Amino acid sequence: MSPSPDHDRLEFWEEQAQRLHWDTRWNQALDWSDAPFARWFTGGTLNVAYNCVDRHVEAGHGDQVAFHWEGEPGDTRTITYAELRSEVCKTANALLSLGLRAGDRVAIQLPMIPEAVFAMLACARLGLPHSVVFGGFSPAALRSRIEDAGARLLITSDGQYRRGKAEPMKALTDEATGHTPSIEHVLVVRRTGADVPWTEGRDLWWHHLVDTQSAAHRPEAFDAEHPLFILYTSGTTGKPKGILHTTGGYLTQAAYTHRAVFGLDPDSDIYWCTADIGWITGHSYIVYGPLANRTTSVMYEGTPNTPHEGRHFEIIERYGVSVYYTAPTLIRTFMKWGEDIPARYDLSSIGVLGSVGEPINPEAWRWYRKHIGGDRAPVVDTWWQTETGAVMIAPLPDRPDVKPGSARTPLPGISAKVVDDQGREVGKGESGYLVLDQPWPSMLRGVWGDDDRYRETYWSRFPAQGYYFAGDGARYDEDGDIWLLGRIDDVMNVSGHRISTAEVESALVSHSAVAEAAVVGASDATTGQAIVAFVILRGGATVRETDAGRVVAALREHVAQEIGPIAKPRQILTVPELPKTRSGKIMRRLLRDVAENREVGDVTTLADASVMDLINAGLVGET
Ligand code: ATP
Ligand code: MG
Repeated sequence: MSPSPDHDRLEFWEEQAQRLHWDTRWNQALDWSDAPFARWFTGGTLNVAYNCVDRHVEAGHGDQVAFHWEGEPGDTRTITYAELRSEVCKTANALLSLGLRAGDRVAIQLPMIPEAVFAMLACARLGLPHSVVFGGFSPAALRSRIEDAGARLLITSDGQYRRGKAEPMKALTDEATGHTPSIEHVLVVRRTGADVPWTEGRDLWWHHLVDTQSAAHRPEAFDAEHPLFILYTSGTTGKPKGILHTTGGYLTQAAYTHRAVFGLDPDSDIYWCTADIGWITGHSYIVYGPLANRTTSVMYEGTPNTPHEGRHFEIIERYGVSVYYTAPTLIRTFMKWGEDIPARYDLSSIGVLGSVGEPINPEAWRWYRKHIGGDRAPVVDTWWQTETGAVMIAPLPDRPDVKPGSARTPLPGISAKVVDDQGREVGKGESGYLVLDQPWPSMLRGVWGDDDRYRETYWSRFPAQGYYFAGDGARYDEDGDIWLLGRIDDVMNVSGHRISTAEVESALVSHSAVAEAAVVGASDATTGQAIVAFVILRGGATVRETDAGRVVAALREHVAQEIGPIAKPRQILTVPELPKTRSGKIMRRLLRDVAENREVGDVTTLADASVMDLINAGLVGET
């Protein structure tokens, strides 16, 4: 990165920061003297929870709804900003009563219930960095995250609803906390009413401890660089990294991007981000960004097809959702279920659609805009990462993206480049590595407890230029707009031709028979790598055995026509499901294991670990 970051850019971010309430104003926008360890808004102090909650109540918006919450079984809860303030204060007082003090770490493994938000904000209010662990993760995944962060408290629930069933949670977290001596207490929310194992003295019910606390609490201001949370990356490529985010810069960019990317108006919009809070999208775009902007949000606990496949559309209709933010994997699932399902609901409130998590295939983009967006709502595709903390590259809604699939530019205040091996910017029509060449306010401040891994993972690819390398490939089109190509590890080398998995997947999905596709490069004696595709057929795997061969042949031909004969998959396997992380990303490394006939690797961060068994079982006898 250039030693003296661009003056206008810093000024831009100082302007954005002014929309927050600071107890002490900063004296320097950015201190980059210890690069790559950034310090933003040095000397400034603020309280994140005050900014997300109290100040809106003080400004007369206490009656505005913060969350329309909808439980999977159909129970609902409406939480105004005034109620949110008292819940957060009670929770904060409860945590104080347990002896927790600023700097102590708190692990949270909860379903998508309001207490998850109260818990995060109470931690933020007290300066307790939280580590939220996805509700579907195994005891082993929870244990390693508790150990890595040295958490003193775990907040969890008795159970959780998943696909219409009450599943245990506390019984599982006990398997983890049985081995984590740093945990002094386990605070348990009652959600399903299940019987739970109980350790006297350690375990506490939320409704006993929190509900009896005073609803008054005075927030303390923390340094702009005080740690706000640790969040482990989804582990698509390897062992999850504990990404550290801090206070002032993070909140500034989360709030700014949320407002700008969705053109959000807090007085009229009803906003719904379908992510899980265990993912960075849940942190920045369910909790911190929207609340800092005084948004009215929908929060939904469950799966999209419980009790029926129209659940999301029913919720959009009921609350009049105007901004809907989801992931391509869900859009493709909706496509698979059929367009007649959204057609049964009134979706006319939708004004802006968002997408995040992976490149969105042009086919899915068009379907999304047509069947959910009434052919009028702009689709904003947002590129970012756990590490970037907030959106970095996206078309703004007032510049509707007319390139499905999608062309994008860095947001104001952000600088990104596509470069070659040597770090030289590539030309129009060329592809290379996506790098961030200027620091940004919500950038990660490190990998928890591992400075060397931070430098090595993110800053060692282009040391001369000091670029942050994101791990993704991208291409400039003829207008100089950026197209994301997916991870560089996902670029295949077939007989010397570089082909991205995303390209072949998009070609497959553009065929009417295909609902979803995942493509990997498997080592091949003649071509170096060969393309192996896993496809889910539309309408489920209902193709009769005798038809399967014909469909596969047609698909190979289709890919050859869309991209070229070189991209023809060597093998196409029809499967009932694909292995995905909680954020909906396909875990290609597991499919590579299958394609190369290896034992399947670490599945602990899969949303549903049984999928690999399904795939393996289905493959018997196929070629
Ligand atoms: P790990 O780093 O542990 O392998 P991960 O990268 O899957 O996990 P996340 O931080 O959740 O964890 O995902 C960020 C990645 O998701 C990006 O690097 C990119 O590959 C992909 N991504 C996110 N949004 C988009 C998008 N709009 N277009 C293309 N790719 C995207
Ligand atoms: Mg990553």
